[in-house]
Amino acid sequence: MSTNTSTTYQMLINGQLVDGASTFDVINPATKEVLAKAPQASVEQLNEAVASAKSAFPVWSALTHDERKEKLLALADAIEANGGELIETLSKEQGKPIKGFFDMGAGFEFGGTLAWARATCGYDLKPETVQEDDNLKIEIHRKPLGVVGSITPWNYPLMISIWHVIPALLAGNTVVLKPSEMTPLTVLKFAEIAKDILPTGVLNIVSGSGEIGAAITAHPDISKVVFTGSTPTGRAIMRSSADNLKRLTLELGGNDAGIVLADADIEAIAPKIFATSFINNGQTCAALKRLYVHESVHDKLCDELVKLATSVKTGNGLEEDSDFGPLQNEKQLNIVKELAEDAKAKGAKFLTGGEVVDDTGFFYPITLVTDITDGARLVDEEQFGPILPIIKFTDIEEVIQRANADDNGLGGSVWSTDIDNAQKIASRLECGSAWVNHHGAIQPNAPFGGVKQSGFGSEFGKVGLEEFTSIQTVHVHKA
Ligand code: NDP
Repeated sequence: MSTNTSTTYQMLINGQLVDGASTFDVINPATKEVLAKAPQASVEQLNEAVASAKSAFPVWSALTHDERKEKLLALADAIEANGGELIETLSKEQGKPIKGFFDMGAGFEFGGTLAWARATCGYDLKPETVQEDDNLKIEIHRKPLGVVGSITPWNYPLMISIWHVIPALLAGNTVVLKPSEMTPLTVLKFAEIAKDILPTGVLNIVSGSGEIGAAITAHPDISKVVFTGSTPTGRAIMRSSADNLKRLTLELGGNDAGIVLADADIEAIAPKIFATSFINNGQTCAALKRLYVHESVHDKLCDELVKLATSVKTGNGLEEDSDFGPLQNEKQLNIVKELAEDAKAKGAKFLTGGEVVDDTGFFYPITLVTDITDGARLVDEEQFGPILPIIKFTDIEEVIQRANADDNGLGGSVWSTDIDNAQKIASRLECGSAWVNHHGAIQPNAPFGGVKQSGFGSEFGKVGLEEFTSIQTVHVHKA
């Protein structure tokens, strides 16, 4: 593993790597120490980035699809060539182990980054003919929107940036990206890589606080914002985008329910339930966050999950034997602690964890909580951390209602050996993705997005690419 981590981070504006107006500290969540200084963009610098993206748009959008694709595949190759440094920086700034439980650490995020970049380049936006006869031809064309503003979060900083940037650019738009101020470093390294591959102004990367995000959403020369983050920020973005009718893709929070039926094969599903609940230490939008288990298999599943929870190690992500790292930031750790305290006050039973044992970083142990039900904050609110409520149920109709009672609607799952029945139940869940015998499994060819308060718009696949375009219907009257 390379230790060649650069200590100077710059932004990419108008084809140049530049310093910010000032700097801010990026904290290593495993040590609470300052890991690096990152550039803080001024609003003037953001305006320069938008102006540069706007002036690059006519040429970039006029390239053929294959010309843009070639550049983006070259970008993916260059990212791959910098893998050692990116993976290590990702582990240091985000906290996730290099390898981690089930191989779902920084290496996994990096693998996903490359897989999505390349798979997205496999989609095209050819015109569709809806009618052609002797008199009339009608075609649907997909046109790029202009400058896209991308605002990304701290849980998967590199991969989510790629989810935004690659389809936006492939469709012919230019981009201004702002990473979370918690985890800007891998994205700033990506800026350095992209500088030598993409034409000037096609991709601009500015780092800084939410203020810069807000300035992006209000900017009159930005045509669309793609955002992954919290629901309250999603609402603020929607309000702020109204003035110039920005197109939006909002991928917001989730409080996904998983429903385990009486006939589920508990030993077979327990490792998958564990992995999909605690992936990235629970800091995953579509992690399993409320586990409803039929009373007849509840205790058995709890036993299996406890075996797994007590066999894993939480520690510094750079230590090879760490299965899980710290929470990414103190605010998130405090949310997890508050939800645990509320559960305790309501008489819930903690099967594992529930107390901070190591405060050298923002660590919280893998925590399983039972004897808890709807109404406790841990069930009703998104924990976004390593603590899972396990809720007993008896009646399937009632549990579907409880799963759907949540305002969020990102994902949901049903676990059973009767696949047809499980699929019928899964289709009744009010969410953008429904899984049978899995949860949170996503791939580049399957559209992903939320309903209700989890947002709107889809990412991935052809549908995801189309989100970065508008339709022009061309009517050709032949006589
Ligand atoms: P936010 O939604 O506040 O932040 C996400 C991104 O939005 C960051 O880049 C942030 O910048 C930026 N931002 C903040 N305010 C504005 C604004 N007014 N306009 C435009 N952009 C803005 O998430 P948090 O980091 O505060 O996390 C809070 C909660 O969000 C978590 O507890 C979790 O529940 C959820 N979350 C969901 C994620 C998902 O994948 N769906 C990912 C991360 C969090 P900056 O960080 O620089 O302030």
